Amino acid sequence: MEGNPLCRIDSTVCSDLAMAINKLREAGLSDVFHGKRFLVSGGAGFLGSWLVDTLYMLGAEKITVVDNLSTGSLDNIRHLLGTGRVELVDKPVEALSPVKGYDYVLHLAARPSPDDYMEHPVETLRASSLGTEVMLESARLSDAVFLLTSTSEVYGHAQVVPTPETYWGYVNPVGPRSCYDEGKRYAEALAMAYMRQYGLDVRISRIFNTYGPRLDWRSPGYGRVVVKFIAQALRGEPLTVHGTGRQTRSFLYVADNIEAHLRLLAPREELRGAIVNIGSSDEITILELAKLVLEITGSASGIVYLPPRPDDPPRRRPDITKARRLLDWKPQTTLQEGLRKTTRWIQNKILLPPK
Ligand code: UDP
Repeated sequence: MEGNPLCRIDSTVCSDLAMAINKLREAGLSDVFHGKRFLVSGGAGFLGSWLVDTLYMLGAEKITVVDNLSTGSLDNIRHLLGTGRVELVDKPVEALSPVKGYDYVLHLAARPSPDDYMEHPVETLRASSLGTEVMLESARLSDAVFLLTSTSEVYGHAQVVPTPETYWGYVNPVGPRSCYDEGKRYAEALAMAYMRQYGLDVRISRIFNTYGPRLDWRSPGYGRVVVKFIAQALRGEPLTVHGTGRQTRSFLYVADNIEAHLRLLAPREELRGAIVNIGSSDEITILELAKLVLEITGSASGIVYLPPRPDDPPRRRPDITKARRLLDWKPQTTLQEGLRKTTRWIQNKILLPPK
């Protein structure tokens, strides 16, 4: 395993990466990515940069990050850019010409925050449609393994909860969330078409709410709930609950998510064409989450109620039976523990002088 310059600047992320890598070692997967070449769209984003750091530590020979830094950040990968093994192509994924020479092509570029994608519906659809096509073509030219990070949003207002991968979804095709939901549904369909028509080795993860360090907590207009609540609590501002707060989500800590993804990328024949929910099965209401954040941060902030977001899914919880069986994986980090780590990470950033 390679040292990571990150460990000199971010002990929280560094120790979580070590934890994920230990789990991979136990699973016999710590060597399989050594010397491999990766094309990663969205590699400067939240999950993308965690994956890039992990692959770097597992000895990847070359990692090309394609990211226009619209919702990602240079801060997430800067520590790797001088190493000679990681490069950044600063453009929207759909503006890339298909490239060859990779062992793995990972398509993570997306705008997953509802507040943000509802402001940028066209860019959101382009990343999932044209962007997916460019990345699939790159995988086809390279004869690479292709990963699409899809989303629980393909299930829409799921009528079956916990939701298994066999559920087809209940989605408003023209609503304000459709740019994300339908974009990802199209991306899944296109990936499966490449598998059926060209025999490409395709793997699809459907990611349920994931949180942790590096999730954008400070840009106005990027409002993922966990980090937004933590930042509000630390600043002594009221926590903004949309609607009644009775809507539910199931929150997975990022290190567990990354471990699941690396297991999904393992060189195993039975993973070709696999579609797997990656998430936590602990469901919680948004109001309960707000109270838990207040308790963990020790904040005296109150709670204010805002109008509900349009088309906000009332319940979301994955059935993770398939991930447990196929990937031999289960979440390790409790919500309390993950919230504490994320709080510490944000607290350190708040205390740091602005650059
Ligand atoms: N939410 C909230 N207050 C906020 C931000 C989000 O109550 O300031 C709620 C939102 O309405 C949704 C849940 O938290 O029910 C999760 O929102 P998020 O943006 O994290 O992602 P989503 O799961 O909706 O994609």
